[in-house]
Amino acid sequence: MSVAADRLEGAPALDIDAVRAQFPALHQQVNGKDLVYLDTAASAQRAQCVIDAVSHYDSHDHANVHRGVHALSQRATDAFEGARRSVAQFINAGSESEIVFTRGTTEAINLVAQSYGRSTLKAGDEVLITWMEHHSNIVPWQMVCEQTGATLKVARIDERGQIDMEHFRSLLNERTRVVGVVHISNALGTINPVAQIARLAHEVGAVVVVDGAQATPHMAVDVQALDCDFYALSGHKMYGPTGIGALYGKRALLDAMPPWQGGGDMILAVDFERTLYNEVPYKFEAGTPNISGAIGLAAACDFVRQLGHEAIARHEADLLEYAMTRLAAPDLTVIGTAQHKSGLVSFTLDGIHPHDIGTIVDGEGVAIRTGHHCAMPVMTFFNLPATARASFGVYTRREDIDRLADALDQVREVLG
Ligand code: PMP
Repeated sequence: MSVAADRLEGAPALDIDAVRAQFPALHQQVNGKDLVYLDTAASAQRAQCVIDAVSHYDSHDHANVHRGVHALSQRATDAFEGARRSVAQFINAGSESEIVFTRGTTEAINLVAQSYGRSTLKAGDEVLITWMEHHSNIVPWQMVCEQTGATLKVARIDERGQIDMEHFRSLLNERTRVVGVVHISNALGTINPVAQIARLAHEVGAVVVVDGAQATPHMAVDVQALDCDFYALSGHKMYGPTGIGALYGKRALLDAMPPWQGGGDMILAVDFERTLYNEVPYKFEAGTPNISGAIGLAAACDFVRQLGHEAIARHEADLLEYAMTRLAAPDLTVIGTAQHKSGLVSFTLDGIHPHDIGTIVDGEGVAIRTGHHCAMPVMTFFNLPATARASFGVYTRREDIDRLADALDQVREVLG
């Protein structure tokens, strides 16, 4: 059930008290109880080093980037471009020119769909995704299929919430031009075999777009080792700010792609007859970017790197194992029991609507998410309107899971 716990034996342990000391938002009471934050998959709490980096920039260095010769503009530009290098290193991109700053994963995937997809897809082509995709890796492809006449194909999942690889293979053919896959499912926790999927997709000449929103805070991501063509991530999932994320794209692909938004910074020269576009990545960054967000994202990359992905994976594997035992009950069904799974538990309680679970446990100071988790096809597959989801992060303790278990008893008492 856990993420290959044996493989993680010997990994360094997190100093959980020291980690928690870096998250001021955790140290508060909600509804008269000490807060237990189990909604990290929706948005992780922000690390103090991220808050400090953003605040320092806002207090001392802010000016617009790239266009100024004055000192503040140069400082802001250095910090912004330094942040791009940090993100590139964090996912082992070959060059920082392969990192495009976006508002997040959603915008990154829309960029690929509207630039790469819209300029290359045509009637008869196919885009292949999976049943476990977040809406942000479904709807942009539906939109571009509508625009180009291409067809959307969907690989099935199994009862444990894993991609049915046989079905996936059967849908891959020479018409498949794009494969979109989530690295870690936010609704199920499943860790997908992205390197294998990329290999299979490349055999038919398709490009691979990976939704990495949930992966970067939980596991080491090496885009070169995965050999994916595009990789999307979000700052706020990895203890960084909202409104900032990044798209990695292989340089040759980005070079060949048309811009998707026009404006300042994405041009070299403009006249009314013809505009000369800037080089990558600036070609895809029209307008003033989220400078402080990029600086916060870089601080978040440093934070995660310093904790170490092995230590994080070991910590979260331990929490998952503990939660599976601690929460086990005849009336509780876990949705998503993949062999390779990250630190979250989606579940239902017999006869009780997930929204009622969420409301009552909130009264106990425990924050969980309830709903379709922006993955409605997953809910359809399991024939559910919604699930309750507890998701873990570097600051989560076993006692937080105990508090959830106690709060669920409260739910049973009130509604059972
Ligand atoms: N994909 C997955 C798997 C996610 O969990 C999320 C966020 N819930 C997204 C994509 C979208 O990320 P964002 O809202 O930061 O663009």
